[in-house]
Amino acid sequence: MTARAVFLDRDGVLNANLVRDGKPYAPRSLAEFQLLPGVEDALGRLKAAGFLTIVATNQPDVPNGITPLAVVEAMHAELRRRLALDDIKICFHTDADNCACRKPKPGLILEAAAERDIDLKASYFVGDRWRDIEAGRAAGCHTILVDHGLAQDRPANADKTVASLSEAAAHILSRERPQISFVVPCYNEEDHIAGTIEQVERAVPLAGFERFEIIVVDDCSQDRSAAIVNELAAEKKQVRLVRNPHNLGFGGAYKVGVSHAAGERVILVPGDDCHPGESIAAVLRKAREADIVVPYRINPEGRPWHRRLVSRCFTFLLNLLFGLRIPYYNGIVLHRTDLLRSIDIKTNSFAFQAEALIKLLRRGASYATVGIGIVESDKKKTTAFRPRNVNGVVRAILALWREVQHSG
Ligand SMILES: [Mg+2]
Repeated sequence: MTARAVFLDRDGVLNANLVRDGKPYAPRSLAEFQLLPGVEDALGRLKAAGFLTIVATNQPDVPNGITPLAVVEAMHAELRRRLALDDIKICFHTDADNCACRKPKPGLILEAAAERDIDLKASYFVGDRWRDIEAGRAAGCHTILVDHGLAQDRPANADKTVASLSEAAAHILSRERPQISFVVPCYNEEDHIAGTIEQVERAVPLAGFERFEIIVVDDCSQDRSAAIVNELAAEKKQVRLVRNPHNLGFGGAYKVGVSHAAGERVILVPGDDCHPGESIAAVLRKAREADIVVPYRINPEGRPWHRRLVSRCFTFLLNLLFGLRIPYYNGIVLHRTDLLRSIDIKTNSFAFQAEALIKLLRRGASYATVGIGIVESDKKKTTAFRPRNVNGVVRAILALWREVQHSG
């Protein structure tokens, strides 16, 4: 697999420049060599996110006779000791040498990329001078300027400007964050789980998204479901398996998945492969319009009449009790993750989605609706109508109604 890197200029990014007459200079002794605040932590976070961290630095003071080579080497030993760095690439030339490695030329970056199979278009360059930004751009990296407010030679063409390496790391990590987390509760779905994952993967580009994760929550399946997901996770970096230590039910599994979600938005997709990629994509396409996207089924004729009746009664009753006009409460609802995490979903019963929706809408969250087609499950019977489950739903709705009355 191709690696990704954060390339770092040294002076003014990792350690402080010495400033004389408003002009930055490299430190000339070990005593002058001081790490900037937050640098150790920022590099740790970048390493933890899977990036190679590689310094690319011009050190013309060595050939110019200003700083002895041994001093620069001692500084770099200090960097390697204190920071999570994979490599330090140094150019010991001046402009007169017309080398290929002195920034703004990208030679140091290209050399590291060739050695470590780095995908430069998926990598970053963080620097504090125009030479850094030009080198990063020439190599095809996303460039980030650490701006210390020194007016001279401040480049205008960096992709992002920040005040510190900490801010640069936060910017990089926010760009890495999944746009969508798919939470897939899974209980004995060995015949359907791989198909479910396939449909999710189809939906993401159809809806114009790129970064996503699929969190399969295995709720103590007794079949090969977990083994199948493990095999898929080994080859697909977006797929993750979370295993419940004991069976929590559909709502409980969903809540576990939400607690693991790193995405900006989170959507429930059951592991029974009943939602074609096009239907999932239709929900995702509405994600930018509202805090919540509520899908409803446009092909109810695929369901037995008694299930349709119960479903309609359930929706009617909830809307009546809580003064809402939601078309359907049990679909593949999409939420803003931060909002969903801000409420406490108490029930693990089949009413967990209703509880989440009602609580968020009462807080003023916005929602959009979308009609989607659903494929009827071929073999499995729903467990929603078992007496234990019906009882759980009724109790959950009553508890929610009481809670809402009390909160006014
Ligand atoms: Mg610098």
